[in-house]
Amino acid sequence: MRFDTKSIHQGQPNDPLTGAVSFPIYQTSTYQQIEPGITKGYSYSRTENPTRIALEKAIASLENGKYGLAFSSGLGAVNTVLNLLEKNSHIIAIDDLYGGTYRIFTKLYKKFGFDFTFVDMRNVENVRNAIKKNTKIIWLKSPTNPLLKIVDIKACAQIGKENGIIVVVDNTFATPYLQKPLELGADIVLHSTTKYLNGHADVIGGALVTNSEKLYEELKFYQNAVGAVPAPLDCFLVLRGLKTLSLRMEKHCDNAEKIAEFLLNHPKIKKVYYPGLSTHKGFHIAKRQMKRFGGMVSFEVDADFENTRKFLCSLKLITLAESLGAVKSLICHPASMTHASVEPKVRIERGITDNLVRLSVGIEDVMDLLDDLFSALKKI
Ligand SMILES: *Cc1c(COP(=O)(O)O)cnc(C)c1O
Repeated sequence: MRFDTKSIHQGQPNDPLTGAVSFPIYQTSTYQQIEPGITKGYSYSRTENPTRIALEKAIASLENGKYGLAFSSGLGAVNTVLNLLEKNSHIIAIDDLYGGTYRIFTKLYKKFGFDFTFVDMRNVENVRNAIKKNTKIIWLKSPTNPLLKIVDIKACAQIGKENGIIVVVDNTFATPYLQKPLELGADIVLHSTTKYLNGHADVIGGALVTNSEKLYEELKFYQNAVGAVPAPLDCFLVLRGLKTLSLRMEKHCDNAEKIAEFLLNHPKIKKVYYPGLSTHKGFHIAKRQMKRFGGMVSFEVDADFENTRKFLCSLKLITLAESLGAVKSLICHPASMTHASVEPKVRIERGITDNLVRLSVGIEDVMDLLDDLFSALKKI
């Protein structure tokens, strides 16, 4: 089966009992047993639930992976990966990390003696140079958040392989429609399904996909042991979202390309970050490892902190909100929103300036989005 067909059929056959074409929401906590200890395959919904299994199979198949696991949030998935490690492990992570992932690394796992090195992975030699005897994971994402840096996933995966280190790729921004990290050599793919996979800004969820049976068994153990599992209704909603993933991504990309071009030519815009611009540092790698360039555009307004905020408050259609990947366009100010928990000094060092704005381009008519941006920029 090909991608578009899998997103509608994989893991979710018509219901054998009734013929229902929409996979049922198995809203149950527990299951009748035939004899004590003898089940029909299900005993308790933290351990397994049919709607969740349908979602896990669907996401795994879209990543061309063997095994999928669903979680109650992207951070629930992040935490479960970290559960694989012994105390005092070392992790090499990309410097332009999602704020919440940075927080769980530095505020929670540091307590358990975990050691993190944050490197700019655009130069893969930085990854090789950061390896220590106790390095267990190389953690990356591409494109990154919010600067949309592009990392050569294949080259990083190769370094992981040579050194027996697990390579984790957060594929939330790209989605399997645009990029398949397992095919590039990654060991685990991570998603916040809250974003594009669900796509409608009405669910919090996460997922992991791997081809390794050993990793899968361990991750599944921690999924059940820790219990950050999604509710059946949420699984149903993500399954519904997946069915239109390719259509939505094409439109997100169409709109983002036009908006990046518009911003590039606007006198009040200082800098535009979009991997699809030929001037973007990662353009050639992005072209090689992605189908298209995604729906995220970041930019610096030629303004100070106050006027950047004024611009954001002047938008009428584009919503000022955290999160991304929704049908509705969402815009945020990383310095005071998504990255507020990163220390100001570190933030500036990493290019997250006070005039930086991150736009998650929705699937509205692009002319309306351009009009909105144009009018708001006139106000400053
Ligand atoms: C949102 C996000 C997460 C965390 O996911 P939640 O569903 O909010 O817990 C992790 N990584 C990336 C790239 C994200 O955008």
